[in-house]
Amino acid sequence: MSKVWRNVATAGCIFRKMKAFNLRVGFIVPLNTNGRINSLMRSKGWSLRENGHVGAAEFIASENFDSRPVGVDIRLLVVHCISLPPGCFNGGHVESFFTNTLDFDAHPYFRTIRGLKVSTHFFIDRSGHLKQFVSCAERAWHAGASAWRGISGCNDFSIGIELEGQDTQEFESAQYETLLTLARVLMANFPIEACVGHSDIATPTGRKRDPGTKFDWSRLRVLEGIELPS
Ligand SMILES: [Zn+2]
Repeated sequence: MSKVWRNVATAGCIFRKMKAFNLRVGFIVPLNTNGRINSLMRSKGWSLRENGHVGAAEFIASENFDSRPVGVDIRLLVVHCISLPPGCFNGGHVESFFTNTLDFDAHPYFRTIRGLKVSTHFFIDRSGHLKQFVSCAERAWHAGASAWRGISGCNDFSIGIELEGQDTQEFESAQYETLLTLARVLMANFPIEACVGHSDIATPTGRKRDPGTKFDWSRLRVLEGIELPS
């Protein structure tokens, strides 16, 4: 954590911290027509609040985050997938995992992730329901060792979006719909340049496979002004 951000955090004033953050990233400044939040979306809670929460999301606080470096813009969306145990949906285990409350003895697979402390900013379940675990202002621990355009440490400048699923299985239309709306909200508030999969940035290459070959990137082509994996 930088000295400046540590001081702000120590002061315990989230509003001062967010004010500094807003100034840095240019909050609520639409980048283009595609990214602009229309009134209908806003009326449904699809806007970013000053605390870095999306209103439409159910917020579940995770402790697994720290501060982003000072002066770093949020330029990247990273799509992941997760299900716990793999292939089992809607069991609440992912939420437990991100909040350090998972019983690692409850399933043999859980022993392989015992003690890991990770998180994501957003999680979209199979029904398209959106949950948020970490403020966009903070650095969630989702990408691990990673690099994009030669810059390492993608957690510094990215927002992580987990889809409930596994890398060998199709995703639900409702999940794409939520992902698209969320992406528009985020593009309207941050200088997002690209959206990639975890597998595109994880280092060394091949370390991660998510969201997998079943993820349909063509559905994201309606987003204008954002680079997608080729
Ligand atoms: Zn991932």
